Amino acid sequence: MNWQTNEEHQMIRRMVREFAEKEIAPRAEEIDATDEFPEDLFRRMGELGIIGLPFPEKYGGSGGDYMSLVIALEEIARVSGSMAITLDAQTSLYCEPVYLFGSETQREKYLTPAASGDKIGAFGLTEPQAGSDAGATRTRAVRDEATGEWVINGQKIFITNGSIADYVVITAKTDPEAGTRGISAFIVERGTPGFEPGRDEKKMGLKGSVTSELFFEDCRIPAENLLGKENEGFKQFLTTLDAGRVAIAAMAVGLAQGAFDKALAYAQERQQFGQPIAKFQAIQWMLAEMATEIDAARLLVNRAAGLRAQDERFTKEAAMAKLFATEMSESVCYKAIQIHGGYGYVREYEVERMYRDQRLCAIGEGTNQIQRLVIARQILGR
Ligand SMILES: Cc1cc2nc3c(=O)[nH]c(=O)nc-3n(C[C@H](O)[C@H](O)[C@H](O)COP(=O)(O)OP(=O)(O)OC[C@H]3O[C@@H](n4cnc5c(N)ncnc54)[C@H](O)[C@@H]3O)c2cc1C
Repeated sequence: MNWQTNEEHQMIRRMVREFAEKEIAPRAEEIDATDEFPEDLFRRMGELGIIGLPFPEKYGGSGGDYMSLVIALEEIARVSGSMAITLDAQTSLYCEPVYLFGSETQREKYLTPAASGDKIGAFGLTEPQAGSDAGATRTRAVRDEATGEWVINGQKIFITNGSIADYVVITAKTDPEAGTRGISAFIVERGTPGFEPGRDEKKMGLKGSVTSELFFEDCRIPAENLLGKENEGFKQFLTTLDAGRVAIAAMAVGLAQGAFDKALAYAQERQQFGQPIAKFQAIQWMLAEMATEIDAARLLVNRAAGLRAQDERFTKEAAMAKLFATEMSESVCYKAIQIHGGYGYVREYEVERMYRDQRLCAIGEGTNQIQRLVIARQILGR
């Protein structure tokens, strides 16, 4: 089992870091303040091949692997959590299931333009009554026997990229008697009659990333927009979420690294009692703990991404990476604020934004309580 990064991964890290520092970092504060989706930066991620990193070139991708994607997510999150979650939703939540479960025609039509950043994608699983219990979906898809079309009725909430998406992969019940074996996945295009985005949420952090309600009322989609096989949607989204968990763990590592870098620089500049605060052992210990925790989380993320890249099972490893990295980011960003003292609590210093942004990581793509359940089930062999 190899989960080391290679020369190509290092090259991707350098390229994405340069882009993130030059083009995203100078705008990160403005994105947070205005809460507006920076479409131009999204398109730039497409042009640079970042969105399509793990997909073959024939589908508009860059021909890399999942490790390349987590490296890119980490580097982008290091300067902007909002851009990182936008990339996560586009690549690992929307493009990934279309690539894994889509037919050749679906890949050409719905993956290629999204992998190159020309079209925006979203993944709609969560509903008002179906969050952690995503199998309890109430959205219903019924086949019209006369035309073969699917008629969808229901609602999704908290969907990243939702109201700006050109295409959304959603789950819906196709056989209500069959429990989780009666759920299917569909691709719905923006503009389809009966499909309307609702409000965009006002969030604690990750501002500029769009989080929306979606409504479906007698929304008719063609038979060929069923993604994969009928009634296999539950299995599909569990697979999608495994990869998504590694992605959100990478985002947590990036946010923590960004906060650590700021704290390290600040500790060496800020003078109290006639010397830089980095000379105090209390500060040194915090820095040492932060650096260690970030490294440990990155190793877990790399292990899970490496398994994914080699098509091996990684459910447990993805959940462990997500659980550890997202609790690590809470602790590291907390300490980064502590090291900044009062300046850490005000908006001028970026650690305040990073602390707010990282908070979602322990909730999205399965809360950390759910990650503990997943890990325990794997350990107990259930
Ligand atoms: C900013 C943002 C972006 C998001 N993006 C997307 C997206 O793109 N697509 C999408 O489909 N969803 C998205 N979500 C939804 C997200 O995945 C859910 O919020 C998350 O899965 C939790 O569901 P819930 O909010 O309904 O919480 P609930 O499931 O109601 O959980 C509430 C509490 O109960 C706990 N709990 C629930 N069940 C158990 C259990 N069995 N054992 C122990 N504790 C339990 C939870 O851990 C939590 O602490 C997003 C959410 C946010 C906030």
